[in-house]
Amino acid sequence: MIFRQWLEPVSSTYTYLLGCTETGQCVLVDPVVNVIDRDLQQLHELGLKLACTLDTHIHADHITAALELKKRTGSRIAAPAFDRLPCTDLGIEEGVPLQVGSIRLQGLHTPGHTDGHFAYLAGERLFSGDALLIDGCGRTDFQNGNPQDLYRSVTRKLFTLPDETLVYPGHDYAGRHVSSIAQEKARNPRLGGGKTLEEFTRIMAALELPYPKFIEHAVPGNRHCGVCPSDLPQELQRYCGRMADSPQG
Ligand code: FE
Repeated sequence: MIFRQWLEPVSSTYTYLLGCTETGQCVLVDPVVNVIDRDLQQLHELGLKLACTLDTHIHADHITAALELKKRTGSRIAAPAFDRLPCTDLGIEEGVPLQVGSIRLQGLHTPGHTDGHFAYLAGERLFSGDALLIDGCGRTDFQNGNPQDLYRSVTRKLFTLPDETLVYPGHDYAGRHVSSIAQEKARNPRLGGGKTLEEFTRIMAALELPYPKFIEHAVPGNRHCGVCPSDLPQELQRYCGRMADSPQG
């Protein structure tokens, strides 16, 4: 398998490439629209054909590249069936793996950051989206999220995976790339070390996070599988990159 981890710096989002060496097909987990040219160049250099994109959830901090990649490569759009987006080609459900060449991704419904959030397991690698971050987790105060659900998703579902499972998060804001289930179970300051639901709920309530500055553009755009709004204020245009400079794509 060919595997890559790419950072989108505006929202500190990680995109993951999983490529099948036998068939030359690949999947991109959580691609971001403003770096679409970089990603396509990389696929070209690796000689891979994009079979589908796969989002972990409806993002509030960046626009998915799913729709633009479909337009430019013919890739299919896979996303959690839970969200019932009409633009999705493949609705992912738990228990029904997604197969791309020799790559098999198993969806794990992990609500709490959003209600429809899915993590994906491919062999020893877990793409944890925003359910579980390295030494952290996604926020739980928007998009039908709540700390009770996230606690259950992480402690009962993700933390029951084998200890050596590698955790590849949806974001990292401090330059970290990968962790493991054992490490997060032991050290995650919010959810690890045997934290109780009460302790976790208290930690989440005390975060006092600022209002997400891009959410009102990102969520409607992502409900259409990645449409950049035409009326983006100047200071937010970097979220759409060249898309904003060239609305025709
Ligand atoms: Fe998110």
